[in-house]
Amino acid sequence: MKTDVQIANEAKMIPIMEVAKKIGIEEDDLELYGNYKAKVSLDLLEKQKEKPDGKLVLVTAINPTPAGEGKTTTNIGLSMGLNKIGKKAITTLREPSLGPCFGVKGGAAGGGYSQVVPMEDINLHFTGDIHAITTANNLVAALLDNHIHQGNKLKIDTRKIVWKRVLDMNDRALRNIVVGLRGRANGVPREDGFDISVASEVMAILCLATDLDDLRQRISKMIVAYDLDGNPVTADDIEATGAVTLLLKDAIKPNLVQTIENTPAFIHGGPFANIAHGCNSVIATKLALKLGDYVVTEAGFGADLGAEKFCNIKCRFAGLSPEAVVIVATVRALKMHGGLPKKELEGENLEALGQGIENLEKHIENIAKFGISSVVAINKFPTDTENEINLLREKSEKLGVNVVLSEVWANGGDGGVELAKKVVEIVEEKKSCFAPLYDSNESIKTKVEKIAKEIYGASGVKYSRKAEKKIKELEKLKLDKMPICMAKTQYSLSDDPTLLGRPSEFDISIADVIVSAGAGFIVVLTGNIMRMPGLPKIPAANNMAITKDGKITGLF
Ligand code: ADP
Ligand code: MG
Repeated sequence: MKTDVQIANEAKMIPIMEVAKKIGIEEDDLELYGNYKAKVSLDLLEKQKEKPDGKLVLVTAINPTPAGEGKTTTNIGLSMGLNKIGKKAITTLREPSLGPCFGVKGGAAGGGYSQVVPMEDINLHFTGDIHAITTANNLVAALLDNHIHQGNKLKIDTRKIVWKRVLDMNDRALRNIVVGLRGRANGVPREDGFDISVASEVMAILCLATDLDDLRQRISKMIVAYDLDGNPVTADDIEATGAVTLLLKDAIKPNLVQTIENTPAFIHGGPFANIAHGCNSVIATKLALKLGDYVVTEAGFGADLGAEKFCNIKCRFAGLSPEAVVIVATVRALKMHGGLPKKELEGENLEALGQGIENLEKHIENIAKFGISSVVAINKFPTDTENEINLLREKSEKLGVNVVLSEVWANGGDGGVELAKKVVEIVEEKKSCFAPLYDSNESIKTKVEKIAKEIYGASGVKYSRKAEKKIKELEKLKLDKMPICMAKTQYSLSDDPTLLGRPSEFDISIADVIVSAGAGFIVVLTGNIMRMPGLPKIPAANNMAITKDGKITGLF
C-alpha cells in the first residue's frame, strides 16, 4: 500500500492561480508563495460583501481513539465529492501544528486519496503563520518582563503573571520554568512556563477576528497579568498592541492550496480543540462562503469538544449558521469504545461494535441539540468486514439518522459522491435551525453545567477551590459574560480519558478558570489537562527523513 506522502507526491498539482480562478479570485487578490500556495488579500472579503453566502457544512466525529477517525480525510473527500456532482465546493481546514506532527499523529493534511497538497509544506512551515503567532505571543512576554525589569511602573504582581511563552512543539520539559536568573542584569526572577503555540490566545484571536481592526482591538484586550491591587494588566497597558498586530499582518490572510483533485482548499489558523476552540479562521470560512456553493469545514477531535465550540464560540461570534453536520465514525474506533483493546481490532467483532455504537449515539443526540441535521459517515478502513459495516448501518438507521458509507480514503472524490449527495439532500430539505446551547449572559457556572450535563452527559460539576476563587474574581471584574471554552480530554465524553463508550453517573472536575479577554471567552480547565503536550515513547519524528535528492519519508 502506498503511504500518504507517496500518494501526495504523485498528485498532479495545477498552478494555484488556476485554482483561484475557478472560484473567481483575480490575480490582484493573490499573493503567491511559490507556485502552489498563496495568500488571499483581505480586501476580497470586503469586495464580495453583497454576495449571498454558500452553505456551511461541519465535519465532526465520535470521540477519537488511537485507532484514528479521519475527519480531515472525510472533509477533503466530501468537498471533492461535491465538486464531482457539480457543486462549487471549498474545504476549509486548520493549519497543522508541528507538535502532533512529530508526536503521535504525523501529518494532518488528510490521508490516502483525500489529501491537500503540497502536503509536506502544509505539514511543516507552510506560509509561516504559526511562526508569526509564536513570535507575536513571545513579543508580549518579552515586553512584559522588560516592563518589570525597567522599574515596573504598572506595579505588576510578578506572582500573578498569566501570560505564558509558547513554542510549536510537544516539549514537556518547558511546562514549568524559572526565568530571570543570575542577578540584576538578567531580569527579575519569576516562575514562567511554555504552552504550545496553538494554545496561545493570539492563535484564538487570529481565528476569531473579522478584519485587521478587530484583530487589533482583541489584541489590546488580552490580559497578561494582574497588578498588586488585583486589577488586570492588558497587552495595551504594556504598549504591545501595535507591534503584535503588525507581526500578524500576513498571518491574518487566508492560505489557498488545492486538494489532490485540484479543488480549492483554504487552510488557515489552527487551535487545538481540547485546550483551545479547535476551528479554522472565521475570515477563511466567511471568504469561502462568498466564493463557493458549499463550504466544508472541520472542528477538532470529537463532537463534544470541536463541534460544541464551533457552535457555541465560532458560529456565535461570526454569525454563521451551519446547515448540515457530518459525524465521522469508524468501525475500528467504535469497537474500541465497545471495550476492545487496540491490538485486537483486526478481526471481526460484532459484539464490541454493537456496544461501542452508544458513543456515536450520544454525538448524534448532541448535534440535534444545536438544531442541525446530521449524517453519519462511516469512514471505511481496509480491515472493516461487510458484516460490521452492515451492523453499523442498521444500528444508525434505527437511531433515525442518515448514514452513508464513505470511501474517500481509498477512492478520493468518487468515494465521496454518495456522501456529497446526502449532504446536498439534507441542506436542500432546509430543516436545520441553528442555535447555540446557552446564553453568554448566564453565569459561568450555569454555562459550564449546561455543557457538562447536556453535551458530556455528566451528573454534575465539581470546582476546585482555585476555580471557585477565579470565578468570583471574574464576576467582580465583570468578565464573566462570555462563552466558555472547555479544556478537556478528547478521548472520553467525560474528563477521564479511560472512560470510553458512553459513560454515565460521573462528575466533571474543574481545576482552573482562565479568562481570554481578547479572544472573548473563558477557558475552563477540567481534570489535569495540559496546555503543553509531551512526546510519546516513540515519536513520529524518529521515522522522518529526507534523502539527498529531496525525497521525504515518514510524514505519513
Ligand atoms: P482526524 O482529522 O479525525 O484527526 P485524519 O483525517 O487526519 O483524522 O486521519 C488520521 C489518520 O488516519 C491519517 O493518517 C489517515 O491517513 C488515516 N485514515 C483516515 N481514514 C482512513 C481510512 N479510511 N483507511 C485507512 N486510514 C485512514
Ligand atoms: Mg483533522
